[in-house]
Amino acid sequence: MVNGNMYALGSNRSVIRDLFEYGNERAKLVGRENIYDFSLGNPSVPAPEEVNEAIADIIASVPSVAVHGYTSAQGSEATRKAIADDLNARFGTSFTPAELYISCGAAASLVSTLRALIADDGTEIVGIAPFFPEYRCFVEANGGRFVLVPADEAEFQIDFAALERALTAKTAAVLINSPNNPSGTVYSEETIRRLALLLEKKSAEYGRAIYLISDEPYRELVYDGETVPFPPLYYKDTVVCYSYSKSLSLPGERIGYVLVPAAAAESARLYAAIAGAARASGYVCAPSLLQRVIERCAGVRPHLEEYAANRDLLYSALTEIGFRCVYPKGAFYMFIEAPDGDGDRFSEHAKQYDLLLVPGRSFGCERFLRISYCVSGEMIRKSIPAFKKAFDEYEGLPH
Ligand code: PLP
Repeated sequence: MVNGNMYALGSNRSVIRDLFEYGNERAKLVGRENIYDFSLGNPSVPAPEEVNEAIADIIASVPSVAVHGYTSAQGSEATRKAIADDLNARFGTSFTPAELYISCGAAASLVSTLRALIADDGTEIVGIAPFFPEYRCFVEANGGRFVLVPADEAEFQIDFAALERALTAKTAAVLINSPNNPSGTVYSEETIRRLALLLEKKSAEYGRAIYLISDEPYRELVYDGETVPFPPLYYKDTVVCYSYSKSLSLPGERIGYVLVPAAAAESARLYAAIAGAARASGYVCAPSLLQRVIERCAGVRPHLEEYAANRDLLYSALTEIGFRCVYPKGAFYMFIEAPDGDGDRFSEHAKQYDLLLVPGRSFGCERFLRISYCVSGEMIRKSIPAFKKAFDEYEGLPH
């Protein structure tokens, strides 16, 4: 008999996929160049040259059986050392390869960490809106309860009073994502400090560590010299879930890592449980060619000029038209407020102008819509009149 929960997860398409498929159908009718598809978060900037050079060189110089063979379940020591060295050089830390588990991207990092922490049906994982919709699936499909803290819609930092109310004796972890998908917000140092203080207080109250899971595939995607505070420097019980999908434009290659700092509570047990969860999920030995690439490219940073230009162009055009949007400092997303605060309705309306915008409901913010600006600058320029028409011709506008 087929598992009903898994059937439901596999057969219900996400809103994002729905919009993308709708765009494909419309493109057949009106031409791809007339569709303004802002639905998917697929990097539009190619992988840095160093990555392709490393792939070519590895293929040419390393025996094929070694390139394509299994590595240790947790990833090769050389790759883990390269990552530890890069983190240590940037953050003044002293991580060792033993604190890293190489994974098949951020999704696998998160699932392994969550499975390692969800002990029984009552375990609660706290997320903060707006959030990456897959979190709910990752938590609930693994037996946990996803507890959502409503957004601070003015700034998209954290509503600490609401977060404090959400923490209970059953909370295993708080899951954050900065730079944020979908808002583009970067949590300030003040936010991370307050978060650390609150988690320390609550951990002491409950007599055990509440972990902070920092999902940070967009860490390097920030503009105007913005810095992203590194949570393990502020809160010792932090687990970092990282991916090269966005920073090196490698989403199809499935490579990332989990960092379990030795300083974190029960770190050896937690690392072993993450290894166990990866094993139980069939996620052992991340792609071995890519591990070798990361061994050489752990210090390579993305080219951000195109994303920065897209953000500037869209932000100034949309705010001039009249949309409200918190200035996005990182990732490649903007979160605009629907003129009447109904994101679903405005998304439907925008389709008439072949503008595909993801309603914010699935991110926990129904007043908003997500725009992925990892697209060509030309498409953005062509789309501006469509945004203007969609705004001006929207009924129920309170302007
Ligand atoms: N976390 C966030 C916030 C994301 O936006 C994404 C992908 O879009 C992921 C995790 C999953 O990343 P990966 O493709 O590396 O599994």
